[in-house]
Amino acid sequence: MNDAPRPYPVMLSIAGSDSGGGAGIQADIKIGCQLGVFVATAITSVTSQNTCEVVGRSDIAPDFISSQILTVCADTMPQAAKTGMIPTPEAVVAVARTLRSVGIENLVVDPVLISTSGHALASPLEEVAAAMREELFPLATLVTPNLHEAAYLAGFADTDSIEPPTLCSRLGAKAVLLKGGHKTGCRCDDLLIEADSVAASFPAERIDTVNTHGTGCSLSSAIACSLAAGMPLMRAIANAKDLITTDLRLAADYRHGKGHGPLFFFTGGKHYINKES
Ligand code: PLP
Repeated sequence: MNDAPRPYPVMLSIAGSDSGGGAGIQADIKIGCQLGVFVATAITSVTSQNTCEVVGRSDIAPDFISSQILTVCADTMPQAAKTGMIPTPEAVVAVARTLRSVGIENLVVDPVLISTSGHALASPLEEVAAAMREELFPLATLVTPNLHEAAYLAGFADTDSIEPPTLCSRLGAKAVLLKGGHKTGCRCDDLLIEADSVAASFPAERIDTVNTHGTGCSLSSAIACSLAAGMPLMRAIANAKDLITTDLRLAADYRHGKGHGPLFFFTGGKHYINKES
């Protein structure tokens, strides 16, 4: 029998390169491999970093970021895209206008501003934030800030003052997933806010591990991959949370680097990894 060849679901990751391999583009590709979704990339900046620190970054020119997006879309149009680190306001505008011109169907925006180690991954911060609110968030199916990003981008004095139901209108977004990973205490539930009300809560218990580098990148990538595979938004978030929770739990058994290690990206192939060695 001669079945017609099938297309892969494709997700386009528009993000920075992490030389350490745990976050950014590298994490996004590994997540796609776990979910069976083909990940294409438009690299926005190349960082020099390891599990302890970001030493520097070399930003890609906005026109060349757009060129990568257009070239991929001309051949293998993705069903979904995600954005991660976008280093300058000019690059944010270029990405937003290019995505609008190609008519991307599903877009997850992870508004990365500062690394866990405290290095600015976007600058000047205020101008990047304004460009995101004006140009990028209105295009997004979902925006996925952590508590610090939500407070900064939505104009709250601190993370304790965030009023979740107001986030969509403050950010100019259709839907916001407010991530709970930076809460203190044993719970880190995520809240889905749609049309200025809390639509759902995704429960999660805190996992005791230092290996959290790239968690935000990986979650947004897993949501975008799930959307590319045809899942509706709520199911895509639940599917992504499931995978990231498993990857975090399994990562707790490993030590990689001297700082914050990566997730365990090998579910599906984990029988090849010898825990004793
Ligand atoms: N480096 C790059 C290139 C990233 O895209 C990200 C993603 O958010 C980070 C670093 C931040 O990783 P983390 O804050 O999890 O250390």
